[in-house]
Amino acid sequence: MRVVVVGAGLAGLTAARQLADAGHQVTVFDKGRSPGGRLATRRIGTGRFDHGAQFFTVRSDRFAALVAPHIETGLVFEWCRGFSAEADGYPRYAVRGGMNAWAKVLARGLDVRCSSLVFAIRRGSAASGAAWDVALDDGSSVAADALVVTCPLPQSYSLLVSAEVTLPEELLRTEYDRTVALLLSLDRSPAVAEPGGLNNPTDRLSFVADNQRKGISDAPALTVHANAAWSEEHWDDAPAVAIEALLTAAGEYIGDALVLEAQLKKWRFATPRTLWPEPCWTAANTTGPLVLAGDAFAGPRIEGAVLSGLAAAAALLG
Ligand SMILES: Cc1cc2nc3c(=O)[nH]c(=O)nc-3n(C[C@H](O)[C@H](O)[C@H](O)COP(=O)(O)OP(=O)(O)OC[C@H]3O[C@@H](n4cnc5c(N)ncnc54)[C@H](O)[C@@H]3O)c2cc1C
Repeated sequence: MRVVVVGAGLAGLTAARQLADAGHQVTVFDKGRSPGGRLATRRIGTGRFDHGAQFFTVRSDRFAALVAPHIETGLVFEWCRGFSAEADGYPRYAVRGGMNAWAKVLARGLDVRCSSLVFAIRRGSAASGAAWDVALDDGSSVAADALVVTCPLPQSYSLLVSAEVTLPEELLRTEYDRTVALLLSLDRSPAVAEPGGLNNPTDRLSFVADNQRKGISDAPALTVHANAAWSEEHWDDAPAVAIEALLTAAGEYIGDALVLEAQLKKWRFATPRTLWPEPCWTAANTTGPLVLAGDAFAGPRIEGAVLSGLAAAAALLG
């Protein structure tokens, strides 16, 4: 089959790898400049920041088996066993070089086309002889026998409007929490004690991370995540206003350090609020298969995205 995967986040890359290994001709499109989606790492000077997902846990045997080879090569390492008073003994893993490095490894050997925004998905015409036509924003289109769509759900629906696919109401109603992230390049280490991360440190913040202490940055680099309530309320604030407010909110963790540079990053679709009960969703009555996958299906975290990608591939492979 010619399979098009929309989205080179963990769900899309995982599905693509399985399908390519099974001998299918797979093309992955992502609107971002590099693969990874919410597995995101940014450089500011010599500082390196994870600014989407900060760490991951491993709860299922299936995911453990996929992660094990990466622990073996040293790509994935155990960051800690919990944060401050919440330490519960379960490993929290991080990725050498930042979370995004994992996506780059997964993308190796796959046909992943970044900076390629999928604009619409349509039923294939008789002329194309394919079940689907995937329209890109550069005006070109690609024929596919099968599709895996892994964007956050509101983005997936808008692609499917012209595909005459009826989605269940519950899927259509899925909403996402937002996250406003502040990345701070500092002149010295921030005041975040071992292991360098804190969950819900204040009533406005959901996480702070000292990327240097975590082991991914050569220079002092602090990631500050505002929680869902603050992010929603301040979403439309001017960047300078949001930065100022978050600098105040994170003051005790910045400590005596001088802020050399501050960058804001907004995640509109950070975390799905509700989950679909199955690890993916397959459209009925279409000429060729169409599967929706992503973290809204198998859990709002890295493991969920991977398990959903596996389920999507399995749904296509039968
Ligand atoms: C701030 C933040 C903190 C988080 N912290 C953690 C954590 O500590 N631990 C944890 O386990 N999880 C965490 N998560 C959640 C985790 O990052 C996600 O569950 C997981 O990465 C989702 O993967 P995905 O493949 O389902 O979606 P995504 O990674 O969102 O991938 C979807 C991809 O689709 C692409 N796309 C969308 N529309 C189009 C289009 N029209 N054309 C082409 N491409 C398109 C996007 O560019 C994106 O790359 C966090 C998320 C955020 C945002």
